[in-house]
Amino acid sequence: MVSFFRSLRGQLSATIISVLALGLGLLLLMAGTQMARMTLESFTHEQQVTALLLANTFSETMEQPQAEQIMALWSSHRDQWRRELPSDTNLSIFDMSGKLLTSSAAGDVVLTVSLPVLLAGDVVSNRNGERLTTAVPVHNEERGTLGVLQIDSSLAPMRAQLWDRWLALIGVTVATLLLILVITLWLAAQMTRPLAELRGVAEQMSEGRLDARVEIDDSVSELASLGAMFNHMAGRVETMIQEQRDFVANASHELRAPLAAMKLRAEILASNKVSDEQARTYASEINEEISQMAGLVSDLLQLSRAESGVFSPPERPLSVADELALCVRSARLRATARGQQITVEIAAHIPDAFITPSDLAIMVGNLLDNAIKYSPEGGAIRLCADWCDDQLEIVVSDNGIGIPPEDIPRVNERFFRVDRAHTRSVPGSGLGLALVTAVAHQYGGELQMSSSGVPGEGTQARLSLAAGLVQSRVIAG
Ligand code: ADP
Repeated sequence: MVSFFRSLRGQLSATIISVLALGLGLLLLMAGTQMARMTLESFTHEQQVTALLLANTFSETMEQPQAEQIMALWSSHRDQWRRELPSDTNLSIFDMSGKLLTSSAAGDVVLTVSLPVLLAGDVVSNRNGERLTTAVPVHNEERGTLGVLQIDSSLAPMRAQLWDRWLALIGVTVATLLLILVITLWLAAQMTRPLAELRGVAEQMSEGRLDARVEIDDSVSELASLGAMFNHMAGRVETMIQEQRDFVANASHELRAPLAAMKLRAEILASNKVSDEQARTYASEINEEISQMAGLVSDLLQLSRAESGVFSPPERPLSVADELALCVRSARLRATARGQQITVEIAAHIPDAFITPSDLAIMVGNLLDNAIKYSPEGGAIRLCADWCDDQLEIVVSDNGIGIPPEDIPRVNERFFRVDRAHTRSVPGSGLGLALVTAVAHQYGGELQMSSSGVPGEGTQARLSLAAGLVQSRVIAG
């Protein structure tokens, strides 16, 4: 029970019921008070009408010796006079001095109203404890005011009638409240059902069922859109967790192969059964494996840093042209070793930009590295940089083996390598373009790869960095 009132459903129901009960209670109180007042008024009015009728009838015979006759007349026609009045109604007659002439009451009766007020011609009613009294002067056209007629009756029947009405009113109110309670509970259950469902799905997800989803109806309510948002979020979480798992599996795989190779060579070296010449070869191969692993670990670290979302642009602007020239200089050494040519075209109007030098080196270095790796000996590589439409555009193109068009959408994925058999001889881990993309995103930029896939027609890598960040800092500077 306590948990019901702690639940949203219980609180919703309790709030609606309390507000409606308060409103109905106030309404009941107002209606009841009005009803009590009207019942008393109507009872008084009834008594006054009866008193006036009696006074009118008795005005002809109103003389002391005839008082007994009047009483006889009252007793014999009691039912007729009494009309709605209770059975214990008493009739009393007083003379002009206020002295009791006669009364149908068993005990003593006194005039309850002051004579001057009465003789002025008013009908006066008084509540005296549990009795209601009405006094009225008796007028005769010829003889003037003859005396006073007073009737009094108990309020008990009126109270009983009033009580019945109160009961009826309370009954109707309670019935209405019960009906409201049922409707409210049903409504609250309907309204909170999607939340309960949402909670159930969240529980399933926390237990590992990442594919659990909320069923959404086609209504446009806030809860339906919350459910849709939840499903969207759940989908993203599932994808991210899957990506993380793939990432760990790929990274482990990439590290395991060189480690196994190194272990094998180290074991042979330890056995001391190899010539000095072979030992030197193995040592140099181990060194190469270690360099590759170090490169892989460094790529992983840079990637995780770039994807961490923590980014602070440099304090000072960088000369893009100078930094690009540095990148090309270091790449040219490797290109020359393969007999490749690197042509550079850097537009003169490129402004200094707020890019960290190492970030620009990572992006351009990886693109140049790929162009060198995937182009044949003697191939031609070209780097163009320009500042257009408020964007820094860097394009690296080559005339190498190209990328099959169906693989283009995937080359930015972590650890993806086109046709592993084909590229097995080419060193690499499949992290380069993922890293370039992640770093470019930090600068509000993107990387677009294009290729016909025909060997010799090569590949074009277009890196665009949103000038928003770069230029606004330039202006501010
Ligand atoms: P890798 O370390 O394998 O070079 P990248 O992420 O840099 O990893 O590239 C992903 C894949 O995209 C490469 O394995 C290669 O198959 C393809 N690729 C990238 N750049 C080029 C290019 N210039 N020419 C041909 N293929 C490329």
